[in-house]
Amino acid sequence: MEDPMYSLQDVIRCDLCETPVPPKHCELYHVHLCETCVEKHLSDKSKDHYIVPFKLRGSIHKCPYHSTKLCILLCKECNVSICKICSSFSEHVQHKKEDILKAMTEKEELIRKDLQELDESIYPKYQEAATNIPVQRADVNKHSQKLTTALDKQGEALHTEIDTIIQGMKLDIDDMDAQHIAAIDRQEVEINKTSTEIKKVILDLKRLLDTSDVCLVSEYTSRTEEFRSFPFQIQVTLPTFTPQEINRGQIRQQIGFLSELVITYPVGTLLDEPRILTDIQTEYKYLHCVVSE
Ligand SMILES: [Zn+2]
Ligand SMILES: [Zn+2]
Ligand SMILES: [Zn+2]
Ligand SMILES: [Zn+2]
Repeated sequence: MEDPMYSLQDVIRCDLCETPVPPKHCELYHVHLCETCVEKHLSDKSKDHYIVPFKLRGSIHKCPYHSTKLCILLCKECNVSICKICSSFSEHVQHKKEDILKAMTEKEELIRKDLQELDESIYPKYQEAATNIPVQRADVNKHSQKLTTALDKQGEALHTEIDTIIQGMKLDIDDMDAQHIAAIDRQEVEINKTSTEIKKVILDLKRLLDTSDVCLVSEYTSRTEEFRSFPFQIQVTLPTFTPQEINRGQIRQQIGFLSELVITYPVGTLLDEPRILTDIQTEYKYLHCVVSE
């Protein structure tokens, strides 16, 4: 495979004029060529030449179907390298084709652009997202703690509110107690007052019967009618307490509304379904066979 010149003089020379370090190579006949000899070499129109930069020598494949031909075209639709015969007499006839070196230059440009974007922009974004994961995880706990605290606070407020209302109602009971006792006291005063009066009347009447004073007896006026009715019995309707049936739903409503967690996954991500990186693998194979020396 190696050029015999290489081992003899340790320097590669143009096969036509012996100029050292020739920059070109004809892939079909494996001829090293300097710039000036390229034209001379191409003037032999009987042969199918294909000139490549020296460093790419030996990298153009032979066609698997036409062993004398080199795959010097890229079918842009099938993304596969083909020879001129395949280009004119196969399924690729209607397909768009391009010179393989030109295609390689374009793809190298694309690779450089992809590399730069992946390296400087896309990959850092993924790295940043990865560093952000523990933060996200911690935020879950932080948020749930916030919710729990708010819920506890609301629970306490509701308890306080209930305690205050119960306390107020107890004061109402005390107040009604005092009113009731006052009414009984007043009743007692009236009864005692009238009783004393009746006792005095009884004594007067006894004395009157014992006496023989005609004038006094004849002037007597009965007050019994006045005492017969008993106007001091108070009417009391006692307060009652009717406990309302405890309704958990209503209490819940009073506490507040806890909304649900909603997670929306972006469409077409790995979270959705696994995908196979076929494009990148193809690209890699192509690169490997063309550039390896
Ligand atoms: Zn030359
Ligand atoms: Zn040639
Ligand atoms: Zn072919
Ligand atoms: Zn094709």
